[in-house]
Amino acid sequence: MNTQLMQTDVLVIGGGTAGTMAGIKAKQANPNGDVLILEKANIRRSGAIAMGMDGVNTAVIPGHSTPEQYVREVTIANDGIANQKAVYQTGKLGFAVIQELESWGVKFQKDAQGNYDLKQVHRVGKYVLPMPEGKDLKTILTRQVKRHKVRVTNRVMATRVLVQDGRAIGAVGFDVRNGDFVVIQAKAVILCTGACGRLGLPASGYLYGTYENPTNAGDGYAMAYHAGAELSNIECFQINPLIKDYNGPACAYVAGPFGAYTANAEGHRFISCDYWSGQMMLEIYKELHSGKGPVHLKMNHLDEDTISEIETILWANERPSRGRFHAGRGENYRTHGVEMNISEIGLCSGHSASGVWVNERGETTVPGLYAAGDMASVPHNYMIGAFVYGRICGENGMDYSARVDHGDPDREWLEAEKARIYAPLDRPNGVPHTQVEYKLRRLVNDYLQPPKSQHRMEIGLSQFVRYEETLSLMGARDPHELMRCMEVHFIRDCAEMAARASLYRKESRWGLYHYRLDYPEKNNEEWFCNVNLKKDEAGEMVLFKCPVDPYIVSVDLDHEVYDVAVR
Ligand SMILES: Cc1cc2nc3c(=O)[nH]c(=O)nc-3n(C[C@H](O)[C@H](O)[C@H](O)COP(=O)(O)OP(=O)(O)OC[C@H]3O[C@@H](n4cnc5c(N)ncnc54)[C@H](O)[C@@H]3O)c2cc1C
Repeated sequence: MNTQLMQTDVLVIGGGTAGTMAGIKAKQANPNGDVLILEKANIRRSGAIAMGMDGVNTAVIPGHSTPEQYVREVTIANDGIANQKAVYQTGKLGFAVIQELESWGVKFQKDAQGNYDLKQVHRVGKYVLPMPEGKDLKTILTRQVKRHKVRVTNRVMATRVLVQDGRAIGAVGFDVRNGDFVVIQAKAVILCTGACGRLGLPASGYLYGTYENPTNAGDGYAMAYHAGAELSNIECFQINPLIKDYNGPACAYVAGPFGAYTANAEGHRFISCDYWSGQMMLEIYKELHSGKGPVHLKMNHLDEDTISEIETILWANERPSRGRFHAGRGENYRTHGVEMNISEIGLCSGHSASGVWVNERGETTVPGLYAAGDMASVPHNYMIGAFVYGRICGENGMDYSARVDHGDPDREWLEAEKARIYAPLDRPNGVPHTQVEYKLRRLVNDYLQPPKSQHRMEIGLSQFVRYEETLSLMGARDPHELMRCMEVHFIRDCAEMAARASLYRKESRWGLYHYRLDYPEKNNEEWFCNVNLKKDEAGEMVLFKCPVDPYIVSVDLDHEVYDVAVR
């Protein structure tokens, strides 16, 4: 194995939605600066929007809604735990992102007069902007990355952020094809590695059949933790309504504005709003476990033209295998509802609120380290939020890089990290990574899946801590398997963080996301705060309460509750 040494001003780790935008914006901020995107797959088709997207969930378009309305909506949906200044950025800057994407060739739905054709899915306000022709989104972004002369290194997986005197000075990783050890010195580092999608095991049992893009295994959460950064509200899990046995959403978001709705087995509507929130998931959970389950997306009452239009949108974008999946089961939207289930648990701020703590400038608590997208703590940020924070981090990261010099990585530390990464190759006949990962994620399901309880989570925690020993039995026969082994390390780190944070917050909040059987009520008096965690000087995981920053948009949380149950 060779060692590759690289140097750049701004290093972006993860070339998905946030990462490609971070690279472009850093370069726009200073065309003479050097920007490098590191991606463990290939940025042409990597990340959550690899196969495009059928709509923007959170478009704040002037004339339709305001950033203030959006901040209110997210604050209420998130039970009051939100850094409003950070959420405001998404509301304020999202429109400029949409316009810029459009200038690059991305198509958004317009009405006959040429106005953006927004749909109402949220409880209050219209924010959903359909993209029926959004299948080429990622390839359009890749083209812009090239046009802006951002350097790209595909097929390199980052494993750790380099830190010197408490400041981020680069990253290390390895080439997942030829196995080279890669050391990158950078003046600023932007983590954009997406959600932790492989925390729980899907009901299908398939390791990579997750709702989230399966290459996102919590790498950024773990790397930020080991770099000394704070993480926030890791107990607030991501849980989604899925098509049963299929790793994609039922898409009530898309079908709802056409007249479809989520119904129980008796055909009755039981939630009044399909905007994804913990409250909505709790109602789905209750209905599924009542005599009225299972639940489905009901469309068979719609006329032929409407159903055909829904099919055209849903089967061309985002999850193009969807039509084939239904056909394989002999299902037809004209006669069948789409049976829904609850997804595996994960960590994600985009759809939920668990992430690496960032302020409204995208800064983590480690100088020189930024985070954007699904792994950064701005709640319910979805795709436009990832673009907005990609932009913010790209611009601020480039600005920061002009004020510092390159750091020199510690040789001993590098040797130790190299030994850690390559250890599985010394055990080609060791336990296969698939088995080690399967067992770990079964433990996550058994002990962390909500509803949560103290005793179960304590057993889970002790298993996750002990799992370090099992990780050291894993074997790899080539660099690709080595990547999978390193992902299992990241998943274990995330499982421990999820267990500790869930045990720490002794109340229920965010509906199903942190529903504790032993503390079934919300307790604003003691728990109206963020729960943050970090690694202390002794290398221990410590948890602490952090106040919610003063609101900039007033919300009366005693009266404004995100209650979506139809009673
Ligand atoms: C199924 C699905 C449907 C969705 N539907 C919608 C929708 O309709 N509307 C909407 O607004 N939002 C939607 N979203 C949310 C939106 O897509 C995400 O919020 C957004 O794309 C997240 O961007 P990101 O950059 O954080 O992550 P991603 O775009 O997933 O990018 C992360 C990248 O990091 C790379 N990576 C990970 N680890 C490493 C490592 N160690 N080293 C190097 N590279 C690494 C990955 O390969 C990946 O390319 C959906 C998400 C999913 C999963």
